[in-house]
Amino acid sequence: MPMDFDAFYKIGCGMYIVSTAHQGKLNGQLANAVVQVTATPPKIAVSLNKQNLTCQLCVKSRVFSVSVLDREAPMTFLGRWGFKSGRDIDKFEGIDHRMGRNGAPIVLDHALACFEATVTESIDVGTHMVIIGEVTSAERLREGEPMDYIYYRLVKKGLTSKLAATYQEKKEDEGAGFRALEASAEASVPRRPLSLTVPGALAPPPRYRCNVCGYVYDPSQGDPDSGVKPGTPFDSLPDGWKCPVCGASAARFTALPP
Ligand code: FE
Repeated sequence: MPMDFDAFYKIGCGMYIVSTAHQGKLNGQLANAVVQVTATPPKIAVSLNKQNLTCQLCVKSRVFSVSVLDREAPMTFLGRWGFKSGRDIDKFEGIDHRMGRNGAPIVLDHALACFEATVTESIDVGTHMVIIGEVTSAERLREGEPMDYIYYRLVKKGLTSKLAATYQEKKEDEGAGFRALEASAEASVPRRPLSLTVPGALAPPPRYRCNVCGYVYDPSQGDPDSGVKPGTPFDSLPDGWKCPVCGASAARFTALPP
């Protein structure tokens, strides 16, 4: 039987933060496998990796919230929820959120809408748990364009966590998963403006891309949040500098063609 894994990319999905809390520990994670499964009563299902702290807490707390993200959410924000663990950091520190009526925190930053749900069923599907919850509140927070997974990949240039339900190891390793899509979307993706080459002029230092999360270090921008000034070439970054999105070391970066 044919197995064209690119076919899976034709399944539409969005970008969400699923949050929960158990015994005072708040946690949340990026998720793209979120779907409404019934209308009466309204139920939504989320697929969470069993290794993720959010999944483990949610199974115990039996409550969760879902925040629908907008397109303006920066990679540093997405990386906090998608590539870092609540075992290492407090993901809610400095994040605009409120506690829901069911006890799960609700992320408000970059959220267009939010849902609260009480777990009714949990299905062990191997690497992941499909957790189904009856929606107890649904709210629009602001107007905006929701970010879908294709936008995240093509415009944000984000990669997929190895723990995501849609991760494809071979595709990510080859960087080929979205090559066809990228080619067809070439015209719509913002690119750096072309510059004229002046004979004798030095080429600008190359940009580098994180192999883990897709963040691009641009020397012209630097990394001000980490104290790196604009104009700092990649090979002049301070020792110990880490990807601001996922925390990977500089050794995990690859130079991009000019
Ligand atoms: Fe990274």
